[in-house]
Amino acid sequence: MTDFAHLRRRMVEEDLRARGVRDYSVLRAMGTVPREAFVPEGLRARAYDDSPLPIGDGQTISQPYIVAFMVEALAPAGDDKALEVGSGSGYAAAVLASICREVYAIERIERLAVTGADALDKLHIRNVHVRYDDGSQGWADAAPFDVIMVSAGAPSVPETLRAQLAIGGRMVIPLGAGPRVQELVRITRKSQHEYIREDLADVRFVPLIGREGWGLEAL
Ligand code: SAM
Repeated sequence: MTDFAHLRRRMVEEDLRARGVRDYSVLRAMGTVPREAFVPEGLRARAYDDSPLPIGDGQTISQPYIVAFMVEALAPAGDDKALEVGSGSGYAAAVLASICREVYAIERIERLAVTGADALDKLHIRNVHVRYDDGSQGWADAAPFDVIMVSAGAPSVPETLRAQLAIGGRMVIPLGAGPRVQELVRITRKSQHEYIREDLADVRFVPLIGREGWGLEAL
């Protein structure tokens, strides 16, 4: 039988800590959330591979290091309300949920929204709300958010998401002129009208498809 706890500990040490992830709450969350519960049954043995894995419908569960890097860049706190756009398998939402008070997660593919919500439910994770919708439009009823994690690549920062960021809030979003290669960017809202932008890393995400993302031809 696969010793997932052992594989998870190895992942935290070798793939995260050794590469510079330092935030204790992020390392603890990554060392607690069972990634094997969010990957398709036939891929469970590879759940702690240092890579993204297919989750069906042409989508992926992100590489663990990228999830940890993004969550660390968001600097989430225990009382924060978070939004994840592109929740896919539900894994990154579960990681955020083990740090934040509440997580709102949006996924545009219905089957993934259902399986993601189901995986979270089976783990008794009750502070994640999953919605099947276009996440480029955010979640107006639950805004503003202290942290916004966009897990798909956009051509530019959706104005709707920018407006749903709380003052002092942070957003990480992959941005690129093409749908497959991006720069991971952090946007911090300093005041009503002032935002700062920092470039963090080169990344490769599936495209954000939606009203303030790419058109379906990007798929
Ligand atoms: N965080 C996810 C995980 O842990 O599995 C990563 C999922 S994958 C890299 C990105 C997801 O974004 C895909 O499931 C895709 O369907 C979704 N997506 C793309 N455009 C979207 C949109 N406008 N609204 C919501 N989800 C979107």
